[in-house]
Amino acid sequence: MILITGGAGYIGSHSAIKFLEDNREVVIFDNLETGHIETVETLKTIGRVEFVKGDLRNIDEIRSVFEKYKIDAVIHFAANALVGESVTNPAKYYRNNTFGTLNLLDCMIEHDVKKIVFSSTCATYGEPKYTPIDENHPQNPINPYGMSKLGVEKIMADYDRAYGLKSIKLRYFNVAGADNKARIGEWHDIETHLIPNILKSTFDKNKKFKIFGNDYDTPDGTCIRDYVNIEDLADAHRLALLYLEKENKSDVFNLGTQQGDSVKNVFDTCERVLGAKIDVEVVERREGDPKELYANSKKAKEILGWSPKRTLEDSIKTAYEWEKKLNKDVLNV
Ligand code: UDP
Repeated sequence: MILITGGAGYIGSHSAIKFLEDNREVVIFDNLETGHIETVETLKTIGRVEFVKGDLRNIDEIRSVFEKYKIDAVIHFAANALVGESVTNPAKYYRNNTFGTLNLLDCMIEHDVKKIVFSSTCATYGEPKYTPIDENHPQNPINPYGMSKLGVEKIMADYDRAYGLKSIKLRYFNVAGADNKARIGEWHDIETHLIPNILKSTFDKNKKFKIFGNDYDTPDGTCIRDYVNIEDLADAHRLALLYLEKENKSDVFNLGTQQGDSVKNVFDTCERVLGAKIDVEVVERREGDPKELYANSKKAKEILGWSPKRTLEDSIKTAYEWEKKLNKDVLNV
């Protein structure tokens, strides 16, 4: 079976679908701090899913999963992922993301499980020295979130040398969209991300959309990011595990579209997809936002055979369908 930590969350659950569609059996381990049990229930209608509620910070909870199930490989998403929160509460990030992963890796070694696909991040690069960013770009994180993930990358390299643990580190850029059948989607109790915030503002007049700064040194003054579709990103995990199973080699890949879109461009695309004018206000810059981040993902294409197929419009359309469903069926607003 495949163990998916954080499988009740946004990226973990969309990736779980890809493995279930390949007829693989999945155990989801999640503390449900930010993930949702409803998401797990939906996954259970798609394929064979076992669920264990537990926390990686407690080694006994994760060890019991390896004792109960025959795990062949791990896809590891469970983490906290808010940059701002990591600055004010670094302890939470190092404990959960770094120490929690150490517990997971130790249980893997104990049970002779030697394959893991890990959710890393472009935040491990820090302030870009050049764009597009390739995998050889220096890694100097500027916040504890990026540092907590970089720590794991380094630990994994050491565990490979010492214990033969093979890992694929996937460094995500921005992720957007939802399942194309709106079965699951992005569902954060506190939403900070661009596209869901634009869409939420159309449902709730108290959530007027704000652009964080239009005085950056970019063509339209707003920040540029690389928005990769969630289903494309999920596919990369399937391909990464196939690669690990075939080649048994550790490696690292950027996952992005290689295209930068400005905040203004994303906003305009939302208006076009929805066919409606959306209220907007420009406010101060948000602290810690670099002006431009986008990926060079050639390596993922050459080695994993991965290339993103879906457009920004596709991501906005599916995110909107999901947002409508979330408001109507789940939150009842
Ligand atoms: N952003 C914005 N308004 C929002 C949320 C985000 O203008 O309500 C901007 C943010 O400043 C950044 C970009 O959108 O330039 C993407 O931000 P997001 O939080 O989605 O992802 P991040 O790049 O921080 O991982």
